[in-house]
Amino acid sequence: MAKKQFDVVVIGGGHAGCEAASASARYGAATALLTLNRGGIGQMSCNPAIGGIGKGQLVREIDALDGLMGRVADAAAIQYRLLNRRKGPAVRGPRSQADRRLYKDAMTEAIDLQDNLEVIEAEVIDFRIGTSGVEAVILADGTEVCCGAAVLTTGTFLGGLIHIGEKRIAAGRLNEPATHGLSRMLQREGFRLGRLKTGTPPRIDRQSVDWTAVDEQHADEDPVPFSFMTEGVQNPQISCGVTRTTAETHRIIRENLHRSAMYSGAIDGVGPRYCPSIEDKIAKFGDRDGHQIFLEPEGLEDQTVYPNGISTSLPEDVQRALVSTIPGLERAAILQPGYAIEYDHVDPRELRHTLETKRIGRLFLAGQINGTTGYEEAAAQGIVAGMNAAKIAAGEDGVIIGRSDAYIGVMIDDLVSRGISEPYRMFTSRSEFRLSLRADNADRRLTPMAIELGLCSRERRIKFERDRSEFEMVRQYAETVSVTPDQAAREGIEINRDGVRRTAFDLLSYPNITLETIVGIWPRLGTFDGRALDALETDARYAAYLGRQQADIAAMKREQMRVIPEELDLSALPGLSNELKQKLATERPETIAQAQRIDGMTPAAIGILMAHSKKLESMPRETP
Ligand code: FAD
Repeated sequence: MAKKQFDVVVIGGGHAGCEAASASARYGAATALLTLNRGGIGQMSCNPAIGGIGKGQLVREIDALDGLMGRVADAAAIQYRLLNRRKGPAVRGPRSQADRRLYKDAMTEAIDLQDNLEVIEAEVIDFRIGTSGVEAVILADGTEVCCGAAVLTTGTFLGGLIHIGEKRIAAGRLNEPATHGLSRMLQREGFRLGRLKTGTPPRIDRQSVDWTAVDEQHADEDPVPFSFMTEGVQNPQISCGVTRTTAETHRIIRENLHRSAMYSGAIDGVGPRYCPSIEDKIAKFGDRDGHQIFLEPEGLEDQTVYPNGISTSLPEDVQRALVSTIPGLERAAILQPGYAIEYDHVDPRELRHTLETKRIGRLFLAGQINGTTGYEEAAAQGIVAGMNAAKIAAGEDGVIIGRSDAYIGVMIDDLVSRGISEPYRMFTSRSEFRLSLRADNADRRLTPMAIELGLCSRERRIKFERDRSEFEMVRQYAETVSVTPDQAAREGIEINRDGVRRTAFDLLSYPNITLETIVGIWPRLGTFDGRALDALETDARYAAYLGRQQADIAAMKREQMRVIPEELDLSALPGLSNELKQKLATERPETIAQAQRIDGMTPAAIGILMAHSKKLESMPRETP
């Protein structure tokens, strides 16, 4: 090993680890990425796809912070689809199917090309912890790697146990060993650990599929890339197959439920409710008229097909039997069996909003270890943990991304204040500000922060500033030019004949008036960049709601900054549990925002604290 002293050490080369290491190195910290297997960098453990509803917003936000996932996903995309295209822009989710090998190659290249970043193949088994927190990580061969901060991103590897029917294999992913040392370390230090599970379907030989017997799902005709930096589509776009389970599939599953690891009582871990196994679908949701399966080729040259929708822990013989009852898969050859995996995770209430643990200073956790599921959720935490580890190692304060800034902020706030009862994944419904937190405006929301923090490349900064000024120009123009109702009528637009002039921006807020119509009236608008025009249209459509939402956000921020009067006796507040009173009295927060960060603080408790702070503030003070 060339060097044994780093500012930041990141453990794990998965989705969280790569973003954490890249963010820390971009910040300027001397960073080491320690991973079990260099060849596993950027590995997609399960489905070969990035994004989707809620998740696509996360990818755009990672990209806006100059993270890697968006650009890497674009380098590997073989089928772009914008989900919820017919619904409003707030809930549209960019998604791409990825060529697994291209994704891994692009991620490895991005890591290799990053300055300040060294990749080391090693197993971390323990930490050396001093009075102010982590001082070094200890490798399996006994070597110590000293660091100013460490980020732990070990995914499903801690105490990983694979189940295939009655078979059990200790592993972090199929054919990759589990790790146990770090679980023991976390237990020794008193961390609350839990057990979760996830699963994956069998993989199928592409040539053994009868593609003529299944429906075809095409890529979008006008693909929308993830990254604000990507100019065009980089790979040929392919179609996927769509088929369904049959009554015979369901019969086989029902008759063999007792052999499924999940139903035989062999698995204690809790699985994701919204991403159920095929046996869960049959047992809990019944037969319906069959459950849909997407046949997704894993790459342009790859012979493997990922049958999305039949994740299972049934024994291999039952997997073969059930697959053969599905139209198009009658003669399918299984290349790798499906399996379920149980693993240890840390209760995320052990973390601060910076993702630093409360128990051990300068130790950060990100990714599946915090009870989330999904590449995007992992990567989004990785970027936050990586930049904060670099800042703390440099002796600076950490940075918090708020709920009103980004889905990343929503996720972290949910995790650290509420904890989890099942693997956490992102949905747009988790955000109270989803009209503001759109995939299309992630750069406007977050790139200024990345620039200020020093995380952003020069190229992105230049592009962002150009895009922003184009947007400001188009908006200013659209808010300047106007017509009377009579002039509008001459252009074929019927609005209330009240004599009031409407700007181009006002007209765009009407649901029946299109951008084309507006450009027809003011052709100069058509000379602006397409993305700026799309953003203008979206802002105009949501203008009324956005105004209200911005007012709510401003009010929320004001409330958060409310000072808790010193004379307020926090240990005697009525309506709070004794535990919370004690925590408040010990930590003595100065503002409501600080109180919100206290472990176990509930919205109801914050309400009480706020009411008493306000009451005391409004009481007349005695003059001496
Ligand atoms: P990972 O990507 O797992 O990376 C962990 C990294 O840590 C690896 O590089 C490993 O080498 C390294 N590591 C582990 N221990 C050590 C150690 N002691 N020392 C050094 N390095 C170490 N997500 C979904 O959204 N939908 C799904 O359907 C889905 N199904 C899944 C099925 C399976 C079988 C698995 C395994 C995962 C599935 N996931 C699914 C989850 C998804 O893969 C993860 O959420 C995502 O990969 C988590 O990223 P991560 O960075 O936290 O961990």
